[in-house]
Amino acid sequence: MTKIGIYPGSFDPVTLGHLDIIQRSMSVVDRLIVAVSDNDSKNHMFDSATRVKLIEESISTLNEGLKDRISVEKFDHLLVDYVKSKKSKIIIRGLRAVSDFEYEFLMTGMNRKIDNDIETIFLMSSEKYHFISSRFIKEIHRLGGDISSSVPKPVLDFLEKI
Ligand code: ADP
Repeated sequence: MTKIGIYPGSFDPVTLGHLDIIQRSMSVVDRLIVAVSDNDSKNHMFDSATRVKLIEESISTLNEGLKDRISVEKFDHLLVDYVKSKKSKIIIRGLRAVSDFEYEFLMTGMNRKIDNDIETIFLMSSEKYHFISSRFIKEIHRLGGDISSSVPKPVLDFLEKI
């Protein structure tokens, strides 16, 4: 049976940390859907279509065997319902520091209350990406700092144009 994983998030914008988690998850699942949340309750800098496009462009730089198994979609349902609609039972999330733990712990607990059959798998990014977050990328870029070692080339090109 094909193991399908769902990697949900805001990806506002996608970073090298996210890309590292995407690549690592490909040794755990056969197919991965990067699910971009289209949720109005969060204040996103980029609209969901742009966030999807930037992930697709970033993935296109990966090797054939990987990128052919990855797709990118928007979702605005309850995550657990979305995961089931994709015939998946696996949620992928990334961990950086202890500070991520509490939020991820609560989210996994809530999802488990809704559906106990869905497992969340946590992957740690490479240590060189531990300090990268979309929030800081936006802040550093806004203040004119260099973010070239933290985001994929398509994101860098896009941010330089705006
Ligand atoms: P959300 O708003 O759902 O937290 P994000 O786009 O911020 O969405 O993150 C999606 C997932 O990727 C989360 O599990 C987050 O912890 C993880 N993540 C983000 N940046 C990194 C990174 N640099 N290293 C490892 N995991 C990361």
